Amino acid sequence: MSSIRVGLLVVAGGRGVRLGAERPKQYLSLAGRPLIVHTLEALAAGFPFSAATVVIRAEDRALYDEAVAQLTSAAAAALGDPAIGGATRQQSVLAGLEALEAAAPEIVLIHDAARPFPSPALVARAVEAAGRHGAAAPGTAISDTVKQVDSDGRVLSTPARSSLRAVQTPQAFLFPLILEAHRRAAAAGLGDLTDDVAVAEWAGAPAYVFEGDPLNVKVTTMQDLEAAEARLMATASETRVGQGFDVHAFAPGDGLWLCGVRIPHSATLSGHSDADVALHALADAIYGALAEGDIGQHFPPSEPEWKGAASKVFLAHAVSRVRARGGRIVHLDLTLVCEAPKIGPHREAMRARVAEIAGLDIGRVAVKATTTERLGFTGRAEGIACLATATVRLP
Ligand code: MG
Repeated sequence: MSSIRVGLLVVAGGRGVRLGAERPKQYLSLAGRPLIVHTLEALAAGFPFSAATVVIRAEDRALYDEAVAQLTSAAAAALGDPAIGGATRQQSVLAGLEALEAAAPEIVLIHDAARPFPSPALVARAVEAAGRHGAAAPGTAISDTVKQVDSDGRVLSTPARSSLRAVQTPQAFLFPLILEAHRRAAAAGLGDLTDDVAVAEWAGAPAYVFEGDPLNVKVTTMQDLEAAEARLMATASETRVGQGFDVHAFAPGDGLWLCGVRIPHSATLSGHSDADVALHALADAIYGALAEGDIGQHFPPSEPEWKGAASKVFLAHAVSRVRARGGRIVHLDLTLVCEAPKIGPHREAMRARVAEIAGLDIGRVAVKATTTERLGFTGRAEGIACLATATVRLP
């Protein structure tokens, strides 16, 4: 099968306006990498394509370059320069086919960048269907009854469900057939046929539907994006546990910061920042889970910038590093070790504040306290110690 030349065309020209995000959806981060990277790697895992072209919008070139730099070398191997798309999907596909023509593929698969889950079996079925039928699309049975309605919502007909298929990509074609069909459609002034099998049909080619994959979903809404991310995390993620420990000494004063909450007391804690021993231990626990150094490395005490700083910036930074890695915090747990002040009365406020800073549900934050039975430096009320644990899921 791999002796035939199969080209790949991925259409990434959409603006993704339905998502309301700051960048087109194909470049949004999903489990730490852009959506289009997942799509290209899934396709490459399914077939050794001889040539591959992505159709992009000219203004997305920097986003595209940044994304494909993250591809595995295997997935990047067949990838040529991107083609610049037109105003409609149909025009974009024609631009991509023209770009692929130099590689003279016998078969081409045309896929939407916003479908990140084409399985190897689906890709193999697509290649096989192109060879057998000339023009084919994957389709799935429809479980909902479908109504044809007019603009007032009045039902005009109820098509027999058994003969209907919801059509996906990759659609698969003999390359000369679909290139010729697109050229003729463009020359005839057609501009917005929404899928490529429709272009082949219009050109008079018999077109077929082969077995699609219900899991080969298209990411259209923010909910789709979140579901896709959860799926990627479930299949390819690891759980890590990091620990943190910190101590600060008491000094004359009238209160102290613990977990971002001001607590009245007969002393304060001394330190370069606001000496919030709990937030320091939590930040270190998260850095530990990431294996990204410690708080002193990210915020050197030698830098005057951090003198008296509110320690929420340290925790917020550690949390942002988890997000930058495409991960999420599962749970934060800490134990304060001191004779005084009493932690119990402030426990819920502390949990709420940590949850707020870390962007977590309060049920994922635990605050505990213990004494050391008057033993050691905490027992002598010379300072407060804090132990923390962070459980983190990373892609
Ligand atoms: Mg500290």
